Amino acid sequence: MKAETERLAEHTWLKIGGPAEVATPESRSEFVDLLAECHERGREYRILGGGSNLLITDAGLDELVIKSTDACTDFEVDGSEVQVGASMMIPQFVKRCVDDDLGGYEYLYSVPGTVGGGIYMNAGRGRSYGLTISDHLTGVEVLVDGEVRTFEKSELQFEHRWSTFHDHDDWVILSATFDMPEQPAEKGNELIKERMSKVGERERGQPNAGSVFKSGSRLPIHKIPPNGLSVDGARFVSGNRVCHDGNATFDDVYRLVKRAAFLHRIMPPFEKPVIEWEIWQ
Ligand SMILES: Cc1cc2nc3c(=O)[nH]c(=O)nc-3n(C[C@H](O)[C@H](O)[C@H](O)COP(=O)(O)OP(=O)(O)OC[C@H]3O[C@@H](n4cnc5c(N)ncnc54)[C@H](O)[C@@H]3O)c2cc1C
Repeated sequence: MKAETERLAEHTWLKIGGPAEVATPESRSEFVDLLAECHERGREYRILGGGSNLLITDAGLDELVIKSTDACTDFEVDGSEVQVGASMMIPQFVKRCVDDDLGGYEYLYSVPGTVGGGIYMNAGRGRSYGLTISDHLTGVEVLVDGEVRTFEKSELQFEHRWSTFHDHDDWVILSATFDMPEQPAEKGNELIKERMSKVGERERGQPNAGSVFKSGSRLPIHKIPPNGLSVDGARFVSGNRVCHDGNATFDDVYRLVKRAAFLHRIMPPFEKPVIEWEIWQ
């Protein structure tokens, strides 16, 4: 399948990332064939979803980047069981469930990633809410060493912004099955509206990648004068979000995050924050 050299900045919410060969399979079979080809030839690859949790080096990557957003977009409902392709965007998945009188994930409507990226990250609400995409998950279809395998949820592990898939970076999520609670569409649509009015246009105006650290930070580093802890055009706009003016480099953002982590370690309440973003370098 054809791959083009592209700047990964064009595929990420942070708008940072150098050149790489990018292939964009347009169907599940193209996706699976491409992965099989990579497997046979020993070609290394990375799976790109919505690019909403990634900080990528300006130096670019040698691996083939497989943009998965157009590959597995199916959606099937049978009673309360929903099977969804890993490429479907989470807001679309949530809305489709709501329209089928199924609920429970309206709070995820603001997450701009794919279902596959969401499962990989175990996306959810803040730690104190204890709500994640794995709550109603029953199984995941995964490509492992060129073979399609189906895992029951009990065979996988999920923790705060972590899943078994972090230990198996060559596994590729193809689809997932959920058992969703019934809920009238009207109620679901209300909950989506509520969620979106809470989030508003929060951090969507400037390049960012959601929460920087896995735990909400208790240090007000965004209040450090004059405009919050910053490195060139990149700065903390809240205790746990970095935005930049469009010109920041990988090094600017990386240095900023490391500096913030250092401040957390040396200032009360002396936390050791874990970075939530995936860093590709
Ligand atoms: C404005 C904004 C708001 C956000 N709000 C939230 C929030 O409320 N809660 C939250 O949890 N997160 C939030 N995030 C972070 C992000 O949206 C989530 O982590 C999301 O799940 C990432 O999905 P993605 O498809 O964009 O993955 P990417 O960023 O493209 O990739 C992340 C990781 O997932 C892997 N991956 C992607 N697809 C697959 C697949 N099919 N198979 C195997 N691995 C795969 C990638 O290889 C990579 O390692 C937010 C981000 C932004 C920019």
